Amino acid sequence: STRRSIPAGEIIFAEDDAPTTAFLIESGRVVISTVQHGETRNLGELGPGSLLGEMAVIDSAPRSATARALTDCVLTPIDRNQFAERLASADPVVRALLMSQLTRYRSALATLTGDAAGSGAMEGRDESGAFDKIRLESELRSALDRDELEVRLQPIMQIATERIAGYEALIRWQHPERGQVSPTEFIRLAEETSLIVPVGDYVLGRVCDMLVELRRRGRSPLPFIALNVSARQLDDPALIDRMLAQLAKRSLPADRLEIEITESLVFNHSQIAALLARCHSAGMLVALDDFGTGYSNLGPVLTLDFDRIKLDQGFTRALGTPRGLALVRAIVAMTAALDCEMIAEGVEDPAQLQALRELGCDYAQGWLVGKPVSLQEVLETG
Ligand code: C2E
Ligand code: CA
Ligand code: CA
Ligand code: CA
Repeated sequence: STRRSIPAGEIIFAEDDAPTTAFLIESGRVVISTVQHGETRNLGELGPGSLLGEMAVIDSAPRSATARALTDCVLTPIDRNQFAERLASADPVVRALLMSQLTRYRSALATLTGDAAGSGAMEGRDESGAFDKIRLESELRSALDRDELEVRLQPIMQIATERIAGYEALIRWQHPERGQVSPTEFIRLAEETSLIVPVGDYVLGRVCDMLVELRRRGRSPLPFIALNVSARQLDDPALIDRMLAQLAKRSLPADRLEIEITESLVFNHSQIAALLARCHSAGMLVALDDFGTGYSNLGPVLTLDFDRIKLDQGFTRALGTPRGLALVRAIVAMTAALDCEMIAEGVEDPAQLQALRELGCDYAQGWLVGKPVSLQEVLETG
């Protein structure tokens, strides 16, 4: 094997050496020491199961101490690349935490050994920006309590009747200092933590309240509201139950709530199939979001029974070119053959709407129809 036997008394590595490997102590004892004002000072001993010399390997700084075998030792060397690969793929926050601890350890060590050069050399600065993420995360946590999140509604127009049939709920974060923070910035972050659960529940609660308000104001037929639900949220088996409970509590029909999911690698077929079955048996609608981008392909569309397919903005933009037009025509035909409705996203100009009308697309959503606005504005403009 790659194990190394070190006789008692031998130096394993010396202070100021350039590090190439760390070691796992399999047997024996190792003493760590530094030289201070010409005198050797013992910092401690390590025994079997301990990692040795990993610090310098992690941050590539010279060895801060000398390691010597106190008894006969057996060591397993660990190449620095083994750490480097794992560190590179680790969560940036975890990496930043590790670096911060390492920096603190080194400056404590420098103070202990009176090595002034070492102490000033490294401060606990975060160069990766990982702490920005942590800061944003704790701010998002309090944003929920402080009511800084807002749900806006963007109208979805039925092209044939030119009526607003429903709305897509889009979250907004009104940050006291940063101003409006885009959901593209904080939804991913919320997904990486458990924060997506309270954020999602907040949106769900607001959407149901909005449906109640629209009903109270006599909007008939009652429009549907589409809710964005990420893969991470659907990992929660109780999510659909919570949705149904929120609807039932307000005596709202389940078919006024639509969930939009974006197909991603996180999903597998049977997961989506089970979700669709549950939603359909409860009466809720499910739309496939961002169709034509990312990981989406024809597989799920052909085998899964989505109610609606949302054509990504990119295709709407391409309507002006002959190829784009031909492609959208084919997608409209496919959607119709599958008994799905199609919603075109990002409709910004009348020529696009006209093209979609001629192609037989069911719904249009975009700035031409309306920007995302507050419920108040929806109620005022009818
Ligand atoms: P999405 O679901 O694809 O939402 C459509 C995005 O396109 C929205 O951006 C919307 O404001 C924007 N948009 C609408 N019409 C037009 C147009 O005519 N032109 C252009 N250029 N853009 C248009 P927004 O609101 O910034 O949301 C970004 C993404 O954040 C959404 O993409 C969705 O994936 C996610 N998101 C928003 N709200 C929520 C939420 O409550 N929960 C979850 N899980 N995700 C959300
Ligand atoms: Ca969406
Ligand atoms: Ca979309
Ligand atoms: Ca169907």
